[in-house]
Amino acid sequence: MAKRDYYEVLGVPKAASPDEVKSAYRRLARQYHPDVAKENPKVAEEKFKEISEAYEVLADEEKRKRYDQLGFPGVETDFGPGGFTWQNFTHMGDLEDLLGSSPLFRDLFGGFGIPFGGGMRTAPRRGSDVELTIRLPVAAAVRGARPTVEVPRTTSCPDCRGTGAKNGTAYETCPECHGEGQVRRVQRSGFGQLLTIGECPRCHGTGRKILEKCPHCGGSGQLRSVERIEVSVPSGIEDGAVLRVPGHGMAAAGGGRAGDLFVQVELEWPQHLRRDGMHAFTETAVPLATALLGGETRVRTIDGEARLQIPAGTQPDTPFRLRGEGFPRLGGSARGDLLVTVHVEVPRSLSGRQRELLREALDPEHRVSAPRRESIFRRRAG
Ligand SMILES: [Zn+2]
Ligand SMILES: [Zn+2]
Repeated sequence: MAKRDYYEVLGVPKAASPDEVKSAYRRLARQYHPDVAKENPKVAEEKFKEISEAYEVLADEEKRKRYDQLGFPGVETDFGPGGFTWQNFTHMGDLEDLLGSSPLFRDLFGGFGIPFGGGMRTAPRRGSDVELTIRLPVAAAVRGARPTVEVPRTTSCPDCRGTGAKNGTAYETCPECHGEGQVRRVQRSGFGQLLTIGECPRCHGTGRKILEKCPHCGGSGQLRSVERIEVSVPSGIEDGAVLRVPGHGMAAAGGGRAGDLFVQVELEWPQHLRRDGMHAFTETAVPLATALLGGETRVRTIDGEARLQIPAGTQPDTPFRLRGEGFPRLGGSARGDLLVTVHVEVPRSLSGRQRELLREALDPEHRVSAPRRESIFRRRAG
């Protein structure tokens, strides 16, 4: 088969932008997707390989420049002596979302010997997730918040595109696993032969043997860093809820998709507050005089303070409702209520004059028996 011009293969003009090249490739990849092309997988693979080779060159600014100047000889050295193989393909990450979810794709590609995401395995290799917990004042659950979290993470090395090999090219296929990233072992057991499949011990599942290490990352393909990420906490969030920030977990080995960041939100509750759905509960105490005569008191709310009118004659432990001082529904704006139980502070001791006045006002007929000593005195005196 005569080699076709890379631009012609992808059906893009010479002046195509990197985005146009990428979308043309993704469109064709979908077209030759082995699930779609199961009628004739061999032809599909050849086509798929042809567009992938073209993409490998045109997606790389430097390779594309050499190809534009010199044609095929300009990029020959990028590939092995036999030409482009799947081991030369460094853009598996661009396909993962498109094709990685398809088991048929993986089965077929297993047959093709494609080191998918760094080796054929039952699931495409993906960076691990990162979990962390943040503590926010409960008021954040009312207003919503945008706290910044620091995430220790690894990112794919840009110099070697996560391969760990100098310039992303100084490697060859792992001789142990032939690029598959895993090895099959046949063991004899009492029940017959047992086939086990495990990660290749030589390349640790990458399918590559690095000839010269990338000096930037020391051959690991990953860089350690601390990323500061602003997390959006919606109003109405429940205590203990977990927010997902896609793509901000660990980088994947071999250039796959990064993991996700999971942030658990713990709300710091002041002692005076409880929650039940959209409503909040609190307690307060007013002096006896306020309960008797009426008045105003201040109540600590979720995010501040509110005034509460106490009518004259308020009984102990009366519940009051402060409308709109509760929690919003998740993502909504209308708020529940704050229910306030009002206790009455009864003085533990009174002065003689207070006693006199109270008796006069509240008990003019002396129906309440007075303390013993005083009553004896009063009887004798009267
Ligand atoms: Zn290997
Ligand atoms: Zn590197």
